[in-house]
Amino acid sequence: MSRASYVGRFAPSPTGPLHAGSLVAATASYLDARAHRGRWLLRIEDLDPPREARGASAAIIATLARFGFAHDGEVIHQSARDAAYRAAFERLAATGLVYPCACTRREVADSVLRGSRERARTAELIYPGSCRNGMPVGREARAWRVRVDARPITWRDRRTGEMVERLDETVGDFVLRRADGLWAYQLAVVVDDAWQGVTDVVRGADLGGSTGRQVYLQRLLGLPTPRYLHVPVLLDARGEKLSKQTGAAPVDAGDGVAPLNAALRFLGLGEIAAVDPAGFWPEAIRRWAGSPWMSRAAS
Ligand code: GLU
Repeated sequence: MSRASYVGRFAPSPTGPLHAGSLVAATASYLDARAHRGRWLLRIEDLDPPREARGASAAIIATLARFGFAHDGEVIHQSARDAAYRAAFERLAATGLVYPCACTRREVADSVLRGSRERARTAELIYPGSCRNGMPVGREARAWRVRVDARPITWRDRRTGEMVERLDETVGDFVLRRADGLWAYQLAVVVDDAWQGVTDVVRGADLGGSTGRQVYLQRLLGLPTPRYLHVPVLLDARGEKLSKQTGAAPVDAGDGVAPLNAALRFLGLGEIAAVDPAGFWPEAIRRWAGSPWMSRAAS
């Protein structure tokens, strides 16, 4: 891997303050970028105002700075990128693969339930294609979906190796533009990773299930596919992913390097006896560079 060409990023959604789980993702992406002597970008994924917590964007940026994360370039806000998402949507529409869908979430759930009770219990519903060949008469477009097919999507994850996903079996035709008129995360993330020249996406394994859709969109749009590394996700005492929505405790830079050490320990790299971030990062980067995380980057 050419070190000079490495561009990584951390892309939090401002649905709440940074918590111990998001700090793990931030730490892993930062360490990987710095260990490769690459650039590390900060992108605020604020394209979903209804889910946004007031003040969260500014709080996340300030907390990262106090923990000594030094981002390269300007912080990008997805809320300012509407024109780029629209242009990508129109390019996808020109392929003939995009269609309007009149289904409510309830209708999708009901038809899936009729098809298979087993499937309906899984967390994510597979869209059954109800509006694929046209919406029912008298119904109006709510969301816009992109058609998928049975061809396997393949990519490499630096931790888990070759990955294969049949999108028709995992998600079905998926949403690019939501019923509330907002752009879907899957579209925005693909557009921005390419626009920012991101070569390496390092993020939590909870987003592994989105990667197939992202690779599919990259191919349709003629965009490069970055390298991916999905790191394990921190779980709470009930074995559930920590999340801002479920009120995970915010990390506090007033606690010194303890939260950074907790993240480092979770990543299997021990703890560092530093009094402040300035003392923490050089040693943390050295450890990452000498760890299996790094050698997984080679192939
Ligand atoms: N904004 C997403 C989140 O906070 C992460 C996007 C990504 O890393 O691809 O869950």
